[in-house]
Amino acid sequence: MASTRVLVVEDEEALATLLEYNLKREDFEVALASDGEEALMKIDESLPDIVILDWMLPKVSGIEVCRRLRLKPETKNIPVIMLTARSEESDRIRGLEIGADDYMTKPFSTNELIARVRAVLRRIRPALVQDEITHGDLKVDRTAHRVWRDDKEIHLGPTEFRLLDHLIRHPGRVFSREQLLNAVWGSDVFVEVRTVDVHIGRLRKALNKYNQGDPIRTVRSAGYALDAA
Ligand code: CA
Repeated sequence: MASTRVLVVEDEEALATLLEYNLKREDFEVALASDGEEALMKIDESLPDIVILDWMLPKVSGIEVCRRLRLKPETKNIPVIMLTARSEESDRIRGLEIGADDYMTKPFSTNELIARVRAVLRRIRPALVQDEITHGDLKVDRTAHRVWRDDKEIHLGPTEFRLLDHLIRHPGRVFSREQLLNAVWGSDVFVEVRTVDVHIGRLRKALNKYNQGDPIRTVRSAGYALDAA
């Protein structure tokens, strides 16, 4: 099952490694970026579920990264926790004004940060921490790996299940084929991009078994989205 993807943007290597280690131990999937430019590039490649963002970064500052994320429709809702060495109240307010969801002053305990990550996700993306997700007439039980539409059970193959699980966690958001490949198959697996179309086709067919309509939207030259309810 796809786990929650955290992007850690931190130029202090020791701290980045420590965060990576502790987040992975808590079953998060972790990507690292060591400057603001790399962070924006990685977010563009594959949208994380949450970003832990250092304030002082080489190239593009954390505050600028956060500002740019908030400008684009596909990234404006990604939760951001800002890290800073400075503890002035004015900085905290500026960080929150620019759209950060939470703020931690260095030094902090890793456990406290992980607790904040979970709290922000619970608040902003309850679907990420729930086992049962409902969207419109669709219901997914991630523990039991079962899917219902209009209270009728739908049987899906494991890949179709993971695709739906990913789409239903971000309703309305358009994912490119590459992003779906990374999220569902993993970035270290070689799978042809066309494979995504095949599995989306199977998922569509299964979901529309009783002719309730196709909930998956094809966005020309962009990718796929699960329609907002
Ligand atoms: Ca820094």
